[in-house]
Amino acid sequence: MDIDDTPVLDNHLHLDPVNGRNVAAAEEFASQGGTHLLVLNKPSWHLVEKATAAETFREVFDLTVEAAAAATEVLDGRAWPVLGVHPALISKLVDDGYTPPEARDIMQTGLDVAAEYVDNGDALAMKSGRPHYDVDDAVWEASNAVMCHGFERAADVGCAIQLHTEGGEDFEAVAGWAEDRGLDRMQVVKHYSGGRLRGPVKSVLADKDELEIAVETDEPFLMETDYIDDPDRPGAVLGPKTVPRRVRWLLENGHEDAVRTAHVETPKAVYGIDTEATLQR
Ligand SMILES: [Zn+2]
Repeated sequence: MDIDDTPVLDNHLHLDPVNGRNVAAAEEFASQGGTHLLVLNKPSWHLVEKATAAETFREVFDLTVEAAAAATEVLDGRAWPVLGVHPALISKLVDDGYTPPEARDIMQTGLDVAAEYVDNGDALAMKSGRPHYDVDDAVWEASNAVMCHGFERAADVGCAIQLHTEGGEDFEAVAGWAEDRGLDRMQVVKHYSGGRLRGPVKSVLADKDELEIAVETDEPFLMETDYIDDPDRPGAVLGPKTVPRRVRWLLENGHEDAVRTAHVETPKAVYGIDTEATLQR
């Protein structure tokens, strides 16, 4: 099997139509054999001064919806928007003088707006999580409440949710919180995951060592770059060509089943998308 025989999905990448390379990054992905993208909105404070009101979240989300539509034009497959609130927004808000409960409410408003986009068919999935750095108890508690609100809203509208969290391999408790709110753990995806994970579905950063672990573990997984499309931070993360390159490397090493798992079966199970039916070369 050759890369031209399979869909190739990057499960988490950012496109910035205001300051970034935007469609050019999607073209680069496509030039290496990439076919499908999940495009995440950038943290709201990167694009607009103050994302606190529902209207401001809409402004940010509309940019991502447009970016995904423009990317679809240059892909043999297509792109879908994934919308939500970056967990680090809580620290920005607290620094700006909001209490943790006030910050929580603002972020939950953002998730409500994201759920509305999914409900209207304008976005595929949601994004939430909790800070990856140390925070005090009040902020941690508020962050967990935001994430659980995300689970509730995702369950309401019937979509998956990507999580940005601290590192680690045991997120069994988090998957349990989702299930308590009516969301199947197959609809909970930990973005920026290593090859081993308990609880949610892992979206493995396209690093060879971590991918080898994921292949050996033989569980559902996705692949991502977390490309940030920020001209001020070139090389801060993996570039848009990385997922197709790693797919080629997996195929060269005989891991056809793993490629099918990450690019056909897991996307179908998690998001309900059909990367084969939506591919026209
Ligand atoms: Zn990201």
